[in-house]
Amino acid sequence: MQIGTLIKRAKTYLPNLKEEKLREAYAYARESHKGQTRMDGTPYVMHPLASAIILTELHVDEDTLIACLLHDVPEDTDRTLGDIENKFGKKVAFLVDGVTKLSKVKYRHDMMERQIESLKKFFLHSARDLRVILIKLADRLHNMSTLEHVREEKQLRIARETMEIYVPISDLLGIWEFKSTLEDLCFRYIYPKEYSDLKKQMSRSAHHHKKLLNETVQMVARSLKQHSIKAEVEARPKTLYSIFRKMVSRGQRLEDLNDLLALRIIIEEQAKCYQVLGIIHALFRPRSGRIKDFIAVPKANGYQSLHTTVFGVEGVPTEFQIRTHEMHFEAQYGIAAHYFYKQARQRGKQSQTAHQKTQSAWVQKVLELQKELKNNYDFLENLKIDIFQDRIFVFTPHGDVIDLPNGANGIDFAYHIHSDIGNRAVGMYRNGMKTPLSTMLNTGDTVRILTSKAQKYPRRDWLEKIQTSLARNKIMESLKKQTAAKRHHEGSEFLKRELFRYGFGDSNKLPERQKQKLIKKFEASSWGEFLEMVGEGTVSEEGFIQALYSLEQLLGKPYRSRKTPLSDVKFQKKRHTRLLEKTSDVTQDNPYYRVKISLIATDRVGFLRDIGIQLASIGANIYQIRVSDHIAKEGQVHVVITLEVMDFAQLRRAFDAIEAVEGMLEVYRMREKKTAKS
Ligand code: MN
Repeated sequence: MQIGTLIKRAKTYLPNLKEEKLREAYAYARESHKGQTRMDGTPYVMHPLASAIILTELHVDEDTLIACLLHDVPEDTDRTLGDIENKFGKKVAFLVDGVTKLSKVKYRHDMMERQIESLKKFFLHSARDLRVILIKLADRLHNMSTLEHVREEKQLRIARETMEIYVPISDLLGIWEFKSTLEDLCFRYIYPKEYSDLKKQMSRSAHHHKKLLNETVQMVARSLKQHSIKAEVEARPKTLYSIFRKMVSRGQRLEDLNDLLALRIIIEEQAKCYQVLGIIHALFRPRSGRIKDFIAVPKANGYQSLHTTVFGVEGVPTEFQIRTHEMHFEAQYGIAAHYFYKQARQRGKQSQTAHQKTQSAWVQKVLELQKELKNNYDFLENLKIDIFQDRIFVFTPHGDVIDLPNGANGIDFAYHIHSDIGNRAVGMYRNGMKTPLSTMLNTGDTVRILTSKAQKYPRRDWLEKIQTSLARNKIMESLKKQTAAKRHHEGSEFLKRELFRYGFGDSNKLPERQKQKLIKKFEASSWGEFLEMVGEGTVSEEGFIQALYSLEQLLGKPYRSRKTPLSDVKFQKKRHTRLLEKTSDVTQDNPYYRVKISLIATDRVGFLRDIGIQLASIGANIYQIRVSDHIAKEGQVHVVITLEVMDFAQLRRAFDAIEAVEGMLEVYRMREKKTAKS
């Protein structure tokens, strides 16, 4: 790898590139990193060079390439940001600054503070200038591709961090090419066994697939030529991780997946896309219901293409994507495509016709945010809400960042550190205050998990509280390791507790008819086995509650015709809200339910306030709150809350939220006496 390679690649799209400046930056980086080597023994400067070469795929501009070559200089060498500014100017220095962590010396007493501040700085710089994120992504991409040389425990940590922070960022920015490459690289380290199994399986059918694809490409190319359509026809390899994800989400084996063969046809004019579709359908019989027109109706993120699946060569299902060069570049490089094309156009180097169409809504949103944030000091808050809404960043006492989905709590956090810590967790200190494990965490929190040697297994009800699939898998794994008797006991206790919670009384008095219903529904051989299934988590709370009771029994009669902002509804229903849904301000009628909940807790200052905060955080409205005179014991308080919820899922979360309030002793739903209604 040499500087010549970088210059050659950059010149393909930057005809006026100042070659000397790039060479100068490279020489400066090489000189600065002199004597340093990467884990694989190569000179350090190979890393920024490789990252810059990766960036040429995005057609980034000259400043970005220079900044990328210099990106590790201030952090890892004697030369400072000031040196870079003097030599390469303010703009380049700003980009380098964005990816540079804050001084180790200044923060030597508080490494956690350094992490937070560095993260904030990265976000701030990215918000002002998107190119900062692109440099960081290229940097990460190269580090991931050389991860085999790194110590094993570090490999897993870096791969996870990548999967949890940088993959979502690439996804958000629509940079598919980076996203899929990063995912495959992470896959290898996070699920090594699954990765190698799948790879082996794939290689078995590789030869046959290749033959089929070649034949298809030839047939299609011939036919397009007959119609005088200039096109690129290419086989589109499916990434291992995308196949793995499909197998998991559909519960299918590799043999059962029928969309392994995929091709892409790229042409000049949009109008001809439909003609090509016709030509494909004349060659192969289309599968009904598998034709999608994302040109007329683009996806929310702006993606455009025609999709069709046909019975291809030998009758094997084959997927085609038909698009123009423009659509293709945009599909692969998302926001970068907009950003740099726009710039090129302004400089008059790009034809006016190219990329004239309106930017998709989400791109506009990101660009707007960039503008707004220039004068906004609440940057982190804004970014969190508008861009990284579904992620939070939480710190270990050592200052490591654990990235979690929004709504995650101490249990999720514990399992993200280690499954042993999860299984033995009994409580946590959040920012120095002792709080229940199920308390929701926020960005910037520092969390220390308290563990107990006596506790070997997770609690059954954790399964209903966590947000991450990682915690779910680990808890299920551990619960299954318990003896049958223990699982039976746990299941029985859990059932009892849940029925009490929703106001259905004692599970021991559950009628035989109801028990049979559950046994049948969950295909258990006996009541005992059903309880075991509950105890090990195979049967969820939502599962058995909804099998036993109708919506009306659970929530009462719905109230209607209140205007609720759609954005709120979506936020309540789905944790992984997408950018577009959040920006919508459409309102619509939604039924909602009033549920009366009784709670008993240790009396203390701020108790009601904490309940209010918890309930607001899940978007549930308090219709009425009443402090009852009935007190069972001295120092306790009895409160009755009438809550407005959208659905059962929200009611469940309301219970979790209330139970997480410090000092809570008992929470259950109060049921109206039937006679009282008339
Ligand atoms: Mn680097």
